[in-house]
Amino acid sequence: MKVAEPNSDVAMVVAPIGADAKNILAVLRAAGIKAIAAKAAEAAGWVDQAAGALVMTEEAVSTRENRSLAEAFERQPPWSEIPLIIVTSTGAIHRWASLPSAVFGVRSNVTLVARPLRASTLVAAVKSVLSARARQFQLRDLLNEREALLASLEIRVQERTAKLQELIAELESFSYSVSHDLRAPLRIIAGYAQVVLDDFGSTLVPEVEQYLKRISRSAERMDQLTQDVLAYTRLARGDLEFAPLDLEKIVQETIEQYPQLAPLRTALRVRRPLAAVMGHGPSLVQALSNLLGNAVKFARPGVPLRVVVSTQMKGDRVRLSVKDNGIGIEQEHHAKIFQIFERVAGQEVPGTGIGLAIVKKSVERMHGTVSLVSQLGKGSTFILELPPATSKAAKVT
Ligand code: ADP
Repeated sequence: MKVAEPNSDVAMVVAPIGADAKNILAVLRAAGIKAIAAKAAEAAGWVDQAAGALVMTEEAVSTRENRSLAEAFERQPPWSEIPLIIVTSTGAIHRWASLPSAVFGVRSNVTLVARPLRASTLVAAVKSVLSARARQFQLRDLLNEREALLASLEIRVQERTAKLQELIAELESFSYSVSHDLRAPLRIIAGYAQVVLDDFGSTLVPEVEQYLKRISRSAERMDQLTQDVLAYTRLARGDLEFAPLDLEKIVQETIEQYPQLAPLRTALRVRRPLAAVMGHGPSLVQALSNLLGNAVKFARPGVPLRVVVSTQMKGDRVRLSVKDNGIGIEQEHHAKIFQIFERVAGQEVPGTGIGLAIVKKSVERMHGTVSLVSQLGKGSTFILELPPATSKAAKVT
């Protein structure tokens, strides 16, 4: 964006005594330089209006206008340093040499030209400051362009983010309703397969019985998958109200709530006391039930299950560890298994590959992180880092 100032290439000449102004104007104009005579009281105004340069005789700058001129220099935008040429007497040039910044401040840009004035010296000085001034205007234009570009980029990023968020919300609501609606026909398929098996099992040829059992198992697996997808999408939707959570109570409740965790009633050790955390109760129960459920599912055959839940403070975070003595996980799978539908290949244990994705999502929604320490054959430790109960309660949408 270019801003054109009408006088950006004009030298304003302030010379109050005798024929000085007339002579200077004549010399400059003869050299093709645009020049206009101005009064000392107008000099500060020309700085504000971003003129090309000021040419002032010594007598003009010794007036009381110096202060307002110094203030105008100070007010200039960062890219601007209007040149000021002072025409001084030879005797006074040494005095002036140390004076300009004292009189006009640090933002002044002063060139001294001594009398007796040679036309060529004055013309060369004015041409040189005007061309330096032109570069300042170019710099200003570049800065303006860059600012405009940044502003338009910012707007584009905001628009795209809004569109993406809308798309994600649509996808979430779509997968939620699909999973929800899928469950009814699935239950009917599983139900009828079971009815045929129960009522006509004895009359069926073995092959048909096998097929029906497969139908029933697949429908059940599909039902489990839709339930897990529902749980995952439910986590991503809506508000989470945070509250201080008593982890000992939450672990106890989780084990009582889920029948598949029954083996933990004897196999679980809780290292008391557990620190309290700030979070969303149902999400934490869900995450813990998945971690504890995996500890049960992936136990080492022939080795009595042992699971330890403990907490530890790490900086301003609570580290909640769930450690098992199960089959362990090879390093190469550590990152992958937290993604939805990802499982370690070749395992017989049933599952959908959504459990750890739910853990990750729920912990992240509680401003926490999840990590894993494990080696194949040496058990696994899942570590959740969560804000302590003392942190400010918040609501996440
Ligand atoms: P699922 O349990 O339904 O397969 P998850 O997302 O909960 O899905 O787990 C992904 C994979 O991570 C599992 O299939 C398993 O290979 C591995 N895994 C998870 N927890 C454990 C554990 N405690 N011990 C050994 N392997 C585990």
